Amino acid sequence: MNKFAIITLGCKVNQYESEVIAESLKAAGWIPAHDKEAADLCIINTCTVTQKASMQSRQAIRQIIRSNPGAYIIVTGCYAQTEADEIRKISGVHDIIGHADKHKIPDMIKNSNLNKPASNIKHQTSNIKHQTSSIKHQTSRTRPFLKIQDGCNAFCTYCIVPYARGRSRSMPLEDVLENIRRVRAAGYHEIVLTGIHLGCYGLDLSPEISLSELLHRIHDSEAIERLRLSSIEPHELTDDIIELAAKPGNICPHFHIPLQSGDDLILERMHRPYTSAYFRELVMNIREKIPHASVGADTLIGFPGESEAAFENTRSLIQDLPVTYLHVFPFSPRKGTLASTYPDKIPSKVIKERCRKMREIGNVKKQEFYRELIGKTVEVLIEGKRDGSSGLLKGLTPNYIPVLVRGGDDLKSTIAEVRVEEVKERPIASYRLSADEYS
Ligand code: SF4
Repeated sequence: MNKFAIITLGCKVNQYESEVIAESLKAAGWIPAHDKEAADLCIINTCTVTQKASMQSRQAIRQIIRSNPGAYIIVTGCYAQTEADEIRKISGVHDIIGHADKHKIPDMIKNSNLNKPASNIKHQTSNIKHQTSSIKHQTSRTRPFLKIQDGCNAFCTYCIVPYARGRSRSMPLEDVLENIRRVRAAGYHEIVLTGIHLGCYGLDLSPEISLSELLHRIHDSEAIERLRLSSIEPHELTDDIIELAAKPGNICPHFHIPLQSGDDLILERMHRPYTSAYFRELVMNIREKIPHASVGADTLIGFPGESEAAFENTRSLIQDLPVTYLHVFPFSPRKGTLASTYPDKIPSKVIKERCRKMREIGNVKKQEFYRELIGKTVEVLIEGKRDGSSGLLKGLTPNYIPVLVRGGDDLKSTIAEVRVEEVKERPIASYRLSADEYS
């Protein structure tokens, strides 16, 4: 009994935490199963950010129980934290483990009878504390994540996360720097700083420190060639951070900003502390200071009370702005949140159509941004695996453009200069062999 599989739903933080669990299991002698049906231990790391995510989490649990009835089944993550009673109803689950204990799974397994019947569920979902798990071993990614913050104090009216992950907690500054050094020493060129509410980084530490101060320290230490931020709230993306990313150095010119709505009344009902005008100014400021910066936005479409005019405010704001890609989420009421009690629900057909319109705008903007690269020489970090359909190498620019590269395997996991020749779905480039080759 020594093969394991982890099925992960949800955000980058969940993916990171699954990676940490996998590394600890490997260190304890477990082997990743090639096929989850062949695993002796299956861990489902769930998500509950929307009603749909909860449903998908339940489906994933049921599906693995059906396809691998002999496995020991552990359910963890945000859905396990908030809806343990629902999971108890699913027959075949052995343990339900909340956020406070998920890092202990490898130890708990050691002391568990893995042949015990599934009816005897252990249930540990109380007392959310922070575990700033660090990357102790190499990960399989070309760009490892480092979770430097967990939890949220904001209580946006549609969001269950503060209930699932508790209040904001941060990894101490020295631990962040040490983890980055370790990642670099293991041969990685880029690290992605993640958190649930990254802009709150350090506010709980003593002495208090800001995300901007942390980024200055990383920038000055030159500990890693590339540092990328995951999503950051509009009002927490300060001038100071933008100016730092504009300087030569390791901070990637890439910002992913959750806008959610371009209508001020809807933003207020969401309890989002900024206005559409603020967002407009922010995006213009970024692109003025860093013309090649990638600026992605999240939009939440179909929030209760989103009239045609309110939707139009969101649509036109995005249409006008030099946003370079868009994530579009349809609103679905999440039990336990204030927004789920709001009247004026929008019919799902209308939400679907509005989402379609937004995605269309997002695709056009993305393609326009990609096309700006034609004829340019750019630095890409090449992944360890080739693209399945074209057979070309896969790479990523600092400003978050995925590029397919014609080149040899010796380029894998390196930063290479390539020249972009054309754009199909993604830019396609050739490795630049010498400085004057294309002159
Ligand atoms: S900032 Fe709002 S949307 Fe983001 S995790 Fe916190 S409560 Fe949820």
